[in-house]
Amino acid sequence: MNASLSTRELQALDSAHFIHPFTDTKALAAKGARIISKAEGIWITDREGHRILDGMSGLWCVNVGYGRTELADAAHRQMAELPYYNSFFQTTTEPSILLAAKLAELSPGFSRVFFSGSGSEGNDTVLRLVRHYWSVMGQPKRSTIISRWNAYHGSTVAGASLGGMKYMHEQGGLPIPGIAHIDQPYWVEHGHGMDREAFGKLAASWLEDKILELGPENVGAFIGEPVQGAGGVIIPPASYWTEIERICRKYDILIVADEVICGFGRLGSWWGSQRMGFKPDLMTFAKGVTSGYFPLGGVMVGDRVGEAIVEKGGEFEHGYTYSGHPVACAVALANLDIIEREGLVQRVAEVTGPRLRKGFAALADHPLVAEPEALGFVAGLVLAKEKGGPADGPGFVPFAPELGVGMVCRQHCFDNGLVMRAVGDRMIVAPPLCMTEDEVDELLRRIRYCLDRTYEDVRARGWC
Ligand SMILES: *Cc1c(COP(=O)(O)O)cnc(C)c1O
Repeated sequence: MNASLSTRELQALDSAHFIHPFTDTKALAAKGARIISKAEGIWITDREGHRILDGMSGLWCVNVGYGRTELADAAHRQMAELPYYNSFFQTTTEPSILLAAKLAELSPGFSRVFFSGSGSEGNDTVLRLVRHYWSVMGQPKRSTIISRWNAYHGSTVAGASLGGMKYMHEQGGLPIPGIAHIDQPYWVEHGHGMDREAFGKLAASWLEDKILELGPENVGAFIGEPVQGAGGVIIPPASYWTEIERICRKYDILIVADEVICGFGRLGSWWGSQRMGFKPDLMTFAKGVTSGYFPLGGVMVGDRVGEAIVEKGGEFEHGYTYSGHPVACAVALANLDIIEREGLVQRVAEVTGPRLRKGFAALADHPLVAEPEALGFVAGLVLAKEKGGPADGPGFVPFAPELGVGMVCRQHCFDNGLVMRAVGDRMIVAPPLCMTEDEVDELLRRIRYCLDRTYEDVRARGWC
């Protein structure tokens, strides 16, 4: 369509007119955005023809990989038949009914779903559902939701408030009232010298402390990602979630799992909460439900909340124009069909996930790498200045944060055909679940190569 425009011309239009999300648009303008023009399987291609291995599945969403014509066909068929209709006024559509039933079937005992257009909207719905539920139950004071620092729950006002990104809170006077945060279960930051499982229990005990500080009669829910994604792939010790569950049950507090990344196979189970061994009352989903081919999100509603609000709640004064969008739902159904038919969840659990984990563990011998870890198809490592350090420290000496070593590494990855994300000095991947074993090996080869380039660069700069 725009073959007549050069990449430079497109970049100039981009800089002039397009405010990018989570971007310093002025700084980007000086450099020019990379224009991705096509993709196939696990590979994206930019307009200059560079092929790049997408180690992040887009933004943690392209679980079945790119180029699935089945999904395009499902969208095309549905658009031709019924491109849109709402579900507000005692109407509904076939794909949204079938998807609701399919999600219930795939979930651990959740009968109902509320649809949104994204994960952020899903978490806005969570906030509304939690408060509506407690109000229906005659305990309207239970309006506070406890979350964690460095959690990511989206970028709308409720999503960003529930999230624990302080730099997001600083722009715009967040969080909104009625949200409290506790520290994250990140052993590297908080668990120095401690046994990991003991640390998991300690991190969970911070929830009990906060509940007692606020008064249990004021707390409605606890929300958490089974494994934190955007915060840097923070994999909690196995003891953490079971202890969190025990504490929430003790004080009768709802558990919300934000499954936007972990849902649909990412951890080698349909839901991340299953992998972490706890049973939530609500689960937010988005991203992998359509593999990113079409925007869709929502909340799985367990029977405790579902029965109360449906049987006793009257009208739920909440919804979105695109709740249950028929094209989104048709794409989701086709996507879930691929995940089931190709056994992607099981492959990640039994074949490709363990291979990624083994490969990550082997990166520990690299001079820059500390704490490499993986679970299912998420993995992370820390870029460290030096190994070792004091016995009560994290087991390595970090770089000064202002050096931005993570960003240096991310650039070497981009320049060498690999998308890897930097969260501070943590480098993370979340590759498409459709990867073959050879593709996992190729990912690992590229990671090591880019770490080598980063190491040379960092030494040349005299940083280590
Ligand atoms: C991406 C993400 C969200 C927000 O989803 P959007 O579709 O970007 O609004 C919420 N929670 C988690 C855990 C996420 O990773």
